[in-house]
Formats: sequence, structure tokens, C-alpha cells
Amino acid sequence: MTANPFDLSGRRAMVTGANTGIGQGIAVSLARAGAEIVAVGRSSMDDTAAMITEVGGTMHAVMADLGKPREAADMLGRVWDEIGALDILINNAGIIRRGDAIDFSEDDWDDVLDVNLKTAFMLCQALARRALDAKRPAKIVNIASMLSFQGGIRIASYTASKSGLAGITRLLANEWAPLGINVNAIAPGYIATNNTAILRKDEERSADIMKRIPAARWGEPEDLGGAAVYLSSDAANYVHGVILPVDGGWLAR
Ligand code: NAP
Repeated sequence: MTANPFDLSGRRAMVTGANTGIGQGIAVSLARAGAEIVAVGRSSMDDTAAMITEVGGTMHAVMADLGKPREAADMLGRVWDEIGALDILINNAGIIRRGDAIDFSEDDWDDVLDVNLKTAFMLCQALARRALDAKRPAKIVNIASMLSFQGGIRIASYTASKSGLAGITRLLANEWAPLGINVNAIAPGYIATNNTAILRKDEERSADIMKRIPAARWGEPEDLGGAAVYLSSDAANYVHGVILPVDGGWLAR
């Protein structure tokens, strides 16, 4: 173990959906802890690159549509061959579609499950195959949700995807813990990003949500950084299959 078990110097971390929101916050936090970042997504990574440079880090931008699970897995293989071995995978990219369950469309089901669950699983698998072949340890952190614990409303496919992601995190931990791969998840509470813009615009919903948050504020993307560094580091070597809420106390209520 390194002198500082939270030090990520010399580690390479892939972060999906790193151009904005939680993924950007996590990418910058990992870079600040010393990791080299491979930022993956479908939009410009320039803002994230500038933030990472500011904290003295290094970032590679990789363009990929994570709505195509098999292509995503191939992309990880290419990154491994062309940029180098990955020590850390943060499965962060995700989408949400809202609608009453009674009218929910098949497309809104499939699109969300593809990005949030199938691609996340296939990236875990692609990383584990490479890491095991190379006899290297690895850390995987999946970004779950309060909807990994609760039912929610009008977000059927999102709840299915995030409950599924929590289940898959535990399953993979059971299979891969003895092989040196840690699989854990972070469950963010209500964080101010594009994902929650509609909720924050709805004054009534927003007030209801605020009333239940013991910390008495919405979370910011940087609030997830500490948990992500911890679960990506040697400090978490004996931590497997945990779904760690970072929610301002929401679930304690
Ligand atoms: P966000 O700002 O909407 O970020 C979502 C990220 O995923 C963006 O980088 C987005 O890229 C990327 N993405 C989505 N579909 C993609 C695709 N097909 N190909 C490539 N990239 C794709 O929302 P966020 O809140 O930061 O969400 C990040 C993660 O946290 C998600 O998994 C979300 O479910 C989870 N989460 C969020 C909250 C919250 O309160 N905000 C709470 C719990 C969990 P573009 O910018 O190009 O669309």
C-alpha cells in the first residue's frame, strides 16, 4: 500500500460522461488525487480538460456514443491498447426519461436501460477481461442513485436501470473480489446538474425535495469527489459490493 492510501498517482482512470455534471466533478477530483484521466463521452471535453489542467492533472478525451453497449466495450479495449492499462473505471454516463408508467414508451425504456445498465455492465466486463489477462488489480465505481433504493415516480426505466446497477454491482463484487477487482457504487442524492434541471425548475417539487434533505441544500458535483477517490484508491482495498449514498442524509430521513 502507498504511504497515503488515498493517493492515485500513477493510476489511470476512465470516467464516462466526464464533460459535465457528476462525471466532470469526479474526473477533476480523481485528477487532483493524482490519477491520469481518460474522459469518455459524446460532447466536447474541453471544459473538463481545462479544469484538470488547473489542478495539475493530465486528461485524454475519447469520443464515444455510450448508447451502443458493444461499441462502448470495444472502445475500452482500444483505450487500453492505445493509451494504456486502466486501473479505475467510473461508470457515470446516464440518462433519464420521464413519463407515467401507463404510457411509458418502449424507446424510453430501451434507451435508458442501454446507457445506464447494459453499457455500464459491458464496460465492467471489458475492463475485467483486460485486467485479469494482464494480472492487474482494478477498481470499478458505478454511479447508482436514490432510485437504487426507492421507487421514484414517472421514471420507470431509470428506476429499473439504477436498481439493476446496484444488483449488478453486488453480483460483480461476489464474482471478482477474489480476483483483485473491487466493484462498488456511489448513490448520489439530489445533485444540481442537467439531469435534475426539470425538478429544480418545478418550484413545488423542488421545495418538497429540499424539505427532506437534512443537509438543507442540493448537492454539487464536487460533493461526490471524496467518495469516488476513496472507492478508487487503496484505502478501499477490502471494500466490495457497497452502494455508498452521498445524499446529504436523504436516506437517513
Ligand atoms: P448530466 O449532467 O445529464 O450528465 C450525464 C452524462 O452522461 C453527460 O456527460 C452525458 O453526455 C453523458 N451521456 C448520456 N448519454 C450518453 C451517451 N449515449 N453517450 C455518451 N455520453 C452520454 O447528469 P448527472 O447528474 O451529472 O448524471 C451523471 C450520473 O449520475 C448519471 O448516471 C445519473 O443517473 C447519476 N445520478 C444523478 C443524480 C442527480 O441528482 N443529478 C442523482 C443520482 C444519480 P452529454 O452531456 O453529451 O449528454
